[in-house]
Amino acid sequence: MSLYLYNTAARRKELFVPIDPTHVGMYVCGPTVYDRAHIGNARPVVVFDTLYRLLKRLYPKVTYVRNITDVDDKINARAKEAGEPISALTARTTKDYHDDMGALNALTPDVEPRATAHIPQMLDMIGQLIKNGNAYEAEGHVLFSISSMDDYGALSGRSMDEMIAGARVEVAPYKRDAGDFVLWKPSSDDLPGWDSPYGRGRPGWHLECSAMSREYLGMTFDIHGGGQDLVFPHHENERAQSQCANHKPFARYWLHNGFLQVEGEKMSKSLGNFFTVNDLLATAPGEAIRLTLLSAHYHQPIDWTAEGLKQSRAAMDRFYLALRAVEDVPAEPAKTLPAEMLAALEDDLNTPLAISHLHDIAGRLNKAKTIDEKIELKSALLAAGDVLGILQQPVDQWFRWTPAGGSALTDDEIEDLVQRRLQARKDRDFAEADRIRQELTDKGVLLEDGPGGTQWRRG
Ligand code: AMP
Ligand code: ZN
Repeated sequence: MSLYLYNTAARRKELFVPIDPTHVGMYVCGPTVYDRAHIGNARPVVVFDTLYRLLKRLYPKVTYVRNITDVDDKINARAKEAGEPISALTARTTKDYHDDMGALNALTPDVEPRATAHIPQMLDMIGQLIKNGNAYEAEGHVLFSISSMDDYGALSGRSMDEMIAGARVEVAPYKRDAGDFVLWKPSSDDLPGWDSPYGRGRPGWHLECSAMSREYLGMTFDIHGGGQDLVFPHHENERAQSQCANHKPFARYWLHNGFLQVEGEKMSKSLGNFFTVNDLLATAPGEAIRLTLLSAHYHQPIDWTAEGLKQSRAAMDRFYLALRAVEDVPAEPAKTLPAEMLAALEDDLNTPLAISHLHDIAGRLNKAKTIDEKIELKSALLAAGDVLGILQQPVDQWFRWTPAGGSALTDDEIEDLVQRRLQARKDRDFAEADRIRQELTDKGVLLEDGPGGTQWRRG
């Protein structure tokens, strides 16, 4: 076993050596729950879910922690705008997030800590940072002093000037350095706040990940992930807080996914190219969306296109058709990950290569003659699908997917028409049989007559 991962901190691919080979720890920054997740937000979820699935195959135990940021100024602003209590907004958005990511076959992380449930741990860390001379109080705030850390900036590799420009930090007279960032800030009575030695207030965003990763994975852990935009300032600051509070190294491998853009442009509401996962789930099955997200290497940018989604859907059709042809063949799905799949994924999660292997396996399964070959290749296809988080549903269910809110025929109506066509054929009324087939085609249902009877699927 030799897993290689591109480590942002080292700026190269490195052999992954866990601290404890019997138990791997991974922390991924999760959503700020004020709005439905967009397709860009789904990229880290699907990428790190795929890594989680791979790690679970390679190591006896994996603890995957992904936080929920449920205290944030964007949440406060949105709740106020909508006249909705903050707790209702965050609970609803968290549920939507779970539903949307579940539809993309993302497994539930082992721990999903909410920031608001970990305020004591955050205050504890602030106390340590003050004691260690890395943080100071000023006008009800507690700030991290970046000049107190020798290698601040080592993760992102930026110069101090770049960091200050990049952080777009609030210029405040009480800051010692322009780049100093907030650990704790005062809350007015109408905003969420907790009592603390520094007055009633709320935590800075970076602090929650330092406190919660320590709580669930310890001071030093294996993998820390997120989107590329988080390298600076978020991850740089997490690292600064944790290392200065703990006097121990923090995450050992830093993984960052590249950004998603849409049809060649930055996704934005004003350009009309902004899609939530929920929007897309109304137009395509979750597994097709997931396959599209995995079709580029995670480290590279990805261009989301309607054409790409269409191609992924056609690829999924092909995989499921291959499985449909061997529905009666037994298989051992979880057991055998084909060697070439493993090699592709162990090479810094090369999912485009893994998907091309999947096509190859499906092609070989289509041509397989003997039962032994069929068992082996069906098992291989299912195992390969499992590690990529696709091919997880019964074949019929895949083909019977309907767009949400569409005026498509129900399963019962289709079955009824299929039976009526069959009867017409028995009665040798071929004109009527053809008419029914055409009616189904017009309504987006394709028929395939085979030795075992007539199969239908939504096209
Ligand atoms: P946010 O809710 O903005 O903190 O983002 C949640 C996660 O989605 C973070 O890991 C971001 O890096 C990631 N993310 C946000 N926008 C994109 C995008 N367009 N492409 C890829 N990842 C993104
Ligand atoms: Zn974080």
